[in-house]
Amino acid sequence: MAEIIDGKRIAERCLAETAADIAALRSSGTTPGLAVVLVGSNPASLAYVRSKDKTCREIGMHSRKIELPAETPQAEVLRLIAELNADPAIHGILVQSPPPSQIDEAAIVRAIDPRKDVDGFHPANVAALAMDDPSAMVPCTPLGCLELLRAHGIATAGARAVVVGRSLIVGKPMALLLLAKGTDATVTVAHSRTKDLPAVCREADILIAALGRPEFLGAEHVREGAVVIDVGINRVGDSTDPRGYRLVGDVDFEAVAPKCRAITPVPGGVGPMTIAMLMRNTLRACRNITGKS
Ligand code: NAP
Repeated sequence: MAEIIDGKRIAERCLAETAADIAALRSSGTTPGLAVVLVGSNPASLAYVRSKDKTCREIGMHSRKIELPAETPQAEVLRLIAELNADPAIHGILVQSPPPSQIDEAAIVRAIDPRKDVDGFHPANVAALAMDDPSAMVPCTPLGCLELLRAHGIATAGARAVVVGRSLIVGKPMALLLLAKGTDATVTVAHSRTKDLPAVCREADILIAALGRPEFLGAEHVREGAVVIDVGINRVGDSTDPRGYRLVGDVDFEAVAPKCRAITPVPGGVGPMTIAMLMRNTLRACRNITGKS
């Protein structure tokens, strides 16, 4: 049976390290600050924003949670971003995705000071990651996946990695991180037009699933002894659960786990790491901006 990669435990360790670093910074008079902006009241987004705010407070970080009505115009969000860019108490800015349709998300991301772009979505940070520039702010979810591999001593150098999904949030930055000098994997990126996906996936020593399709990848996609990182978070109806749904990944865990060397569960795998990496990115942004360590 596969080793289970316990993202919750690893995230707790990362958060404890970040909390200790924050305590040291605070004793020299600097408190890292994160502003999380939510436009509208999408229930999943509300839950994410509240959990980010709570985690900030738990680890001693200054948190500003800004909830705006769904009909807020683009110009007002841009005004808020300008205010946060200029606020010395704020070192990280995040606008929760997806915003309502009147908001041009790409324009909002471009308006964020790249040094405060703790999501790593600003074009300057995307370019820096592609250029192996260590100053890049790297998106939290792929960063969390890499941390899970490192925490389990899974070697990436020379390994064949297959990333299923090419989004700007997960797939593309994940591929760039795996490809970067120092990580040194041989990377394939698959997507909805990939021919013979099972055969492509079976080439992987490390398979990263980020499709947003519940339990889509099965035993036929996984080579014996592969490491599987399941980024997917999907709600599927479940009348036995009081919420009426349960969370599943993009991987059919029961079918795949017996073939793997190691695998992340959902929930409790990549999810907790995303928030831990957000806190780490905010601490890093604070150090970069203030010059204090
Ligand atoms: P997304 O923007 O919808 O992208 C999905 C990608 O998967 C696309 O590139 C798409 O290909 C590809 N794809 C879809 N169906 C496919 C198929 N049948 N075969 C091969 N490729 C296929 O999704 P995302 O934002 O990257 O998120 C992916 C999953 O990760 C979701 O379940 C999301 O909830 C989850 N997620 C989790 C975290 C976390 O913290 N754990 C964070 C972010 C996202 P095309 O480009 O060809 O359409």
